[in-house]
Amino acid sequence: MGTVKLYEKNAYTIEFPARVKQQKQTPNGFEVVLDRTAFYPTGGGQPFDTGWLNDVPVIDVIESQDVIVHILKSRLESDTVSGRVDWKRRFDHMQQHSGQHLLSACFEKIAGAGTVGFHLGSQFVYIDLNKPGLTQHHMAQAEELANKVVFDNIPIKTYFVEPEDLAGLPLRKPPAVRENIRIVEIDGFDYSPCGGTHPEYTGGIGLIKIRRWEKNRDNTRIEFVCGERALEDYRNKNQGINSISSLLSVRDFEAAAAVEKIVSDNKSLLKTIGQLKEDLCKLQADALIQKTTAVDGIKIVKLLFDSRPFEELRMLASAIASQKGCIALLCTTGEKNQIIASRAEDINTDMRKPFNSAMSQIGGRGGGNNRVVQGGFADPGNAQLALDTVHQGILEALRGR
Ligand SMILES: [Zn+2]
Repeated sequence: MGTVKLYEKNAYTIEFPARVKQQKQTPNGFEVVLDRTAFYPTGGGQPFDTGWLNDVPVIDVIESQDVIVHILKSRLESDTVSGRVDWKRRFDHMQQHSGQHLLSACFEKIAGAGTVGFHLGSQFVYIDLNKPGLTQHHMAQAEELANKVVFDNIPIKTYFVEPEDLAGLPLRKPPAVRENIRIVEIDGFDYSPCGGTHPEYTGGIGLIKIRRWEKNRDNTRIEFVCGERALEDYRNKNQGINSISSLLSVRDFEAAAAVEKIVSDNKSLLKTIGQLKEDLCKLQADALIQKTTAVDGIKIVKLLFDSRPFEELRMLASAIASQKGCIALLCTTGEKNQIIASRAEDINTDMRKPFNSAMSQIGGRGGGNNRVVQGGFADPGNAQLALDTVHQGILEALRGR
């Protein structure tokens, strides 16, 4: 004999007396079977209830061949129990699950899109629809219709039917079971075979809000929230938009446009800054080259910087090496210790050999081509040594040409 499922008759029964039929210890906890229960087991996309049996926490509920098994944290000390389902969690599941029925029905009616997947998690609720090309328009229509059915507050009925009665019902999907077929009917609007728990009227679902949707292979995945979760979502969004609009000193409905402007301003500022940096590097390169004495017609500009972004070092090196007869040898220490060496095109020497041998001396790494080489090393104390060694290597290479 299976367990009497109180949740099938009335989803609002959350306190109940029952008799313990079986109790055994397993690695998961204490498995308890009762003669009757209001605890819903994981199934049909709806997660299990939690709660208490005589104040012992119920941490999981599963169904096995019509028998409901409660997993408890510790042993029950009596043969009769008083059960209590955690209503907050259960009602949340009722709202999301019923909202799913309703939203699925609306997508079926509006876009001919069938529901092929449903996930009710602690954070996300989504359905997968078997149609890829849905638009914002479909979303708005389905959402509007679903909420109209909520606001109309029509009954949600549950009843059992015989297999032969199925043909007479406009079911949205075929039942997963062959007997004890339970129908959840949103009064004349939607008929679904389902064993889950639902409010008595659609008003109990509360607001239904689509949060986002995306194409997922040949399907469309719709993420949504219902009831309390929709309120929580609204609360968070309201808080977010209020703090953004107060930061930007605009009204909430102006925030998106204000942020768009900031993003575009920022883009052009970054472009200007990049241009200015390049100009600055060119001027700096000229000044540095002027100060440097040529040896055998070649000027080597050697400099050690403190915490200068490597991107700027690269710019400066390229500005120096863009002038005939010049070599840049620049290093920066800070968060990263990096070095770059770059030569003008008219100097015919391979920069890799002196660079690599200096790097191996100080335990650094790097590489490049015969004109520009760059690398990094761990110990900032090696910076001057790195510069001097590469410098020495370059001089030798130049002499040996
Ligand atoms: Zn269902």
